[in-house]
Amino acid sequence: MSSVPRFGLRIALWYATLFVTGSIAIMLLTYYLTAVSLEQRDRQILDSKLGEYTAAYARGGIDGLADTVRAEQRTAPERLFVRVISRRSEALVLSNTDGWDPSTLETTQLRLPDGTLVQVGKSTDARDDLLARFRAVLGIVTLTIVVIALSGGWLVTQSAAYPIRRLTRAVRRIIRTGRTDERVPIAETAGSNDALDELTTLFNAMLDKIEGLVAAMRGALDNVSHDLRTPLTRLRGTAELALAAPPDVERYREALVECVEESDRVLVMLNTLMDISEAESGAMQLQREPVRLAEIVDRAVDLYREVAEAKGVSLHVSSGAASTADDVVNGDRTRLEQVAANLIDNAVKYTPAGGRVDVQVRRDGDRAVLEVRDTGVGMPPDEIPRVWDRLFRGDRSRAERGLGLGLSFVKAIVEAHGGTVGVMSETGRGSTFTASLPKSA
Ligand code: ADP
Repeated sequence: MSSVPRFGLRIALWYATLFVTGSIAIMLLTYYLTAVSLEQRDRQILDSKLGEYTAAYARGGIDGLADTVRAEQRTAPERLFVRVISRRSEALVLSNTDGWDPSTLETTQLRLPDGTLVQVGKSTDARDDLLARFRAVLGIVTLTIVVIALSGGWLVTQSAAYPIRRLTRAVRRIIRTGRTDERVPIAETAGSNDALDELTTLFNAMLDKIEGLVAAMRGALDNVSHDLRTPLTRLRGTAELALAAPPDVERYREALVECVEESDRVLVMLNTLMDISEAESGAMQLQREPVRLAEIVDRAVDLYREVAEAKGVSLHVSSGAASTADDVVNGDRTRLEQVAANLIDNAVKYTPAGGRVDVQVRRDGDRAVLEVRDTGVGMPPDEIPRVWDRLFRGDRSRAERGLGLGLSFVKAIVEAHGGTVGVMSETGRGSTFTASLPKSA
């Protein structure tokens, strides 16, 4: 038996036990109260009769009492046992003694002032009979309750555990087959929108997420292995070529230098590709904190000031933020610095001497925007939508160093922060790149 039916059985047994115990307690209490009230009623009858007989005895002596008792024995539905014992201990039984069993008599007595003892008794047979019948009925009712509680409990828990069983079956099937595209069907019956349906929906949502992550990982692995094939082949080619040629220390040195450079490129490429894949799949751990974009920009600009100067490109920073709170975003400082550095690096790289690069931070509604504008080579319209693709390098960029991963990295990181990227460019007239991030509340 699997754990779900066992769980159902356990709950059914629990409920049945509680139900049966409660019912039995109520029945026992009813039985007890009935028995007590029957006894009280008998006592009341006896007490009132005792009063009547004592009065009759006081009025007419033993004869008066005998008359009263006899008259009553004829008319009353229930016969009572009456006995009077005189002071000299002479017992005068005044009622009919036939069929009296002293052990089943309920009696009461009163001693009169002259020493006479008047006793009245009543048989408990009728009462015992009634209670015995009551007990038999209670036994049958208890048995019926046990049967109803067990079978009802079992049926109810079976139907309640059905969605859990369905979920368990689906999970087991998914684990066995490894197929994350399977989903647990949600019951469409009206009014079944309960906690279990919510659990099923959540479980399906989790499967969606896992499926997405697995697909992203698989895609990333495919991309990385594909992207690394070229530089690794080049690395191998360089070494092979050097080995095939006649031994020459200088040639070996050159080949080794090339190999080291190529390996460095491969390492940088691998790291960047992994970062992009992580950011795209949502697996990247962002150390989020409130950071000012102006601070991020200042640090990145500092890195490129010398390069720009050496190249004859003027680099300007301006802040369009009205207050210091305008450019605060909730983000990962290091990653955002890398974003700014990549955009500024490109702007300086693709702007010839005499050009100008403007870096600006501004507020746009509930967003803080980082804008990098240059007066550089720009791009033809057909290249613009492709700049965010992995390993894409524009025609005019061949002469420049680069892997074609900078902008894909920027896009992945900005989107992982819930932001968007944008580009405007015209060949020969410069480009403007923007990264727009949600402002910290
Ligand atoms: P890389 O700069 O290493 O080639 P990127 O991903 O940073 O790779 O950029 C992709 C392409 O977008 C570049 O090859 C270039 O053609 C184009 N590009 C990026 N930034 C600029 C810019 N500021 N001006 C003109 N073209 C640019």
